[in-house]
Amino acid sequence: MTRSSAMNPAIRKALDKLGLLRDIDLVLHLPLRYEDETRITPIAKTRDGQMAQIEATVVSNEVQLRPRRQLVVVVEDGTGQCQLRFLNFYPSQQKSMAIGAVLRIQGEVRGGFWGKQMVHPQLRKSDAPLPTSLTPVYPVGKGLPQAYLRRMIVTALHRTRLQETLPEPVWRAIGPPPVLAQPGLSDVQRWWPLQQALQFLHHPQPEVAIQTLEDQSHPAWQRLKVEELLAQQLSQWRVRQLREQFAAPALTPVRQPGQLALHEQLLGQIAFDLTKAQQRVVAEIAADIALERPMHRLLQGDVGSGKTVVAAMAACICMDSGWQCALMAPTEILAEQHFRKLSDWLSPLLAARGKQVAWLAGAQKKKAREHMLALVQSGEAALVVGTHAVIQENVEFDRLGLVIIDEQHRFGVEQRLSLRDRQRSKNASATSAAEATAAGTVSEAPTALADSVQTAQSEALEPHMLMMSATPIPRTLAMTYYADLSVSTIDELPPGRSPVVTRLIADSRRDELIERLQHQVSQGRQAYWVCPLIEESEALDLSNATATFEDLQAAMPQIQMGLLHSRMPAAQKQEVMDRFSAGELGILVATTVIEVGVDVPNASLMVVEHAERFGLSQLHQLRGRVGRGSAKSACILLYSTGDSGKLSDTAKDRLRAMAQTNDGFEIARRDLEIRGPGEFMGARQSGAALLRFADLEADQHLLEWARELAPLMLRDHPHLAEEHMQRWLGGRWDYLKA
Ligand code: ADP
Ligand code: MG
Repeated sequence: MTRSSAMNPAIRKALDKLGLLRDIDLVLHLPLRYEDETRITPIAKTRDGQMAQIEATVVSNEVQLRPRRQLVVVVEDGTGQCQLRFLNFYPSQQKSMAIGAVLRIQGEVRGGFWGKQMVHPQLRKSDAPLPTSLTPVYPVGKGLPQAYLRRMIVTALHRTRLQETLPEPVWRAIGPPPVLAQPGLSDVQRWWPLQQALQFLHHPQPEVAIQTLEDQSHPAWQRLKVEELLAQQLSQWRVRQLREQFAAPALTPVRQPGQLALHEQLLGQIAFDLTKAQQRVVAEIAADIALERPMHRLLQGDVGSGKTVVAAMAACICMDSGWQCALMAPTEILAEQHFRKLSDWLSPLLAARGKQVAWLAGAQKKKAREHMLALVQSGEAALVVGTHAVIQENVEFDRLGLVIIDEQHRFGVEQRLSLRDRQRSKNASATSAAEATAAGTVSEAPTALADSVQTAQSEALEPHMLMMSATPIPRTLAMTYYADLSVSTIDELPPGRSPVVTRLIADSRRDELIERLQHQVSQGRQAYWVCPLIEESEALDLSNATATFEDLQAAMPQIQMGLLHSRMPAAQKQEVMDRFSAGELGILVATTVIEVGVDVPNASLMVVEHAERFGLSQLHQLRGRVGRGSAKSACILLYSTGDSGKLSDTAKDRLRAMAQTNDGFEIARRDLEIRGPGEFMGARQSGAALLRFADLEADQHLLEWARELAPLMLRDHPHLAEEHMQRWLGGRWDYLKA
């Protein structure tokens, strides 16, 4: 597309925002709905509420001043009369509607007390020919006029000759795509060429059953869904292929004569036995990192299922193999907690081997940081724990073999990308081996992609990756977005947990709640009180943690309380956490900084203020902070209906789901239902190609077909596959490789 430099900046901005950069983007920007301007309806035949086009002669035209200034025009077409009202109008408009003028008028018909009426209808000259296809109505952003976008799309459609990437030979082996069976249609009729499908969707013939466009069952729509799903599947397979070409260190523990392996010693060190599920996932991970290709595994397990100790076991196996391990967490509090726990468990064992655990975080003193960096670089730090400061500049590992990312859904895609790229270039010590295996593996497809593989490969061994998350990925999402990811699941909680009881309480009963809380805490229980925002935001009128802290302290003067929010200096945060862990504080008032990972088993009560403002998985994470010990635990979701006096439907759905189930998988399923995949993916949103047309649930049959075809197409028709991905994913490709 040629975008003239004279283009109005507001329009340019709106186009950028919609991602309409290339002709192909415009061509793939499909209408939200259509208007039928192909026919003219006699006024007498129009119905109340109908969008209609009439053609009629002006019989009166006057400006009324009451109840407010407005132009009122009456038109007549021989079958009846209709009144047109304009609250804002130009003199020229008034003139064009002079008595006797014949106009073509479009708008919503209302059958009011004064007869039929249209408010602010659109007017056209009556001598223009009627369009022969339905008029598309596109999603537009602020500053982008519908008519302007329509013209751009027409031009783009005109200029674009789409090469067919799915001709029959490509799918012959597995049969045609299972597009919705329409009675009486042959396969050929159901399977539309792409060019024709797009042309049709932009400008459908008026005879089309509009219903089939709305429910997207029309063959043209089905074709597009197949296209999109296939692009997803191709890219996922490609990512997997790329990864499998990288070499990784085979992590197999080397046992010193007469000494237990590190992970065996760890098992002796901890106070509990691993659950069956923990043992199983440890075995899965161990088997995977023993291979010379990089593991890319998600460890999912509900909050409190014990992922940390599994991570520690994996780290031990890595270190015993003579490689370093990095463990990253999204917040400083969580990272610090991991550091302490892992140091407790492992420092003595590592010391006997001349190694230690290093700590890296953003808010670290320069000297301390430099010391740690030197340990990491020399390899003396066998395990490095930290926030993502670990992945930021200046961290050079001696031999990084395994990266563990806790609460991976909290990390942005960009961060993961940067980590990978960095490790590839940093793992210099083992390059020669990698080079040897890499030579000759990339043979065909002289694409940019293949080039990048070659460069990366000759540089380094790639570390294995273990990502941990309490937010399980529903099956359909796993099939599309994480098709290249192996998954291990901890499906069992450690013994002796009692389920958390969840109650919804209206904010109006706050005093009552505080009274009960006070009583419970005076009996030795500990509670979290979670507030949504740190600073006063007048617009949202959210509780502010500081004010809440003061209020609560005033209401319960005899109880020791602490305050924790993300703007506090790290040392101060730590001090508060320590006092709460040690049982000195009865109540910890906190923002969502405690959302992930925080582990204080004695805390058994949680109040979440303005619960209606939180997302479902966030609430589930928060609730996961209690119910970690054997004490009976409760989570109170305090909601406020605000000025409107009632909760929104989605807020209601979320709160209800929380009260009904403690099961993280069920919560994730409902979350997907309530929010849709786009938001569900969180981090992947940024730049990731989310499905625009296909629906994971409704189009599962198409998804299965695309899944089957993708590897075959990559093998037998690599150029078409590449073309297909470029067309659909364009620049978003990189993100998918994360
Ligand atoms: P999460 O999966 O949410 O990260 P953690 O690793 O923080 O869970 O574990 C939650 C709590 O359960 C911790 O206090 C941990 O020490 C304890 N725990 C983990 N595994 C077991 C087990 N097999 N038996 C008893 N307690 C366990
Ligand atoms: Mg955890």
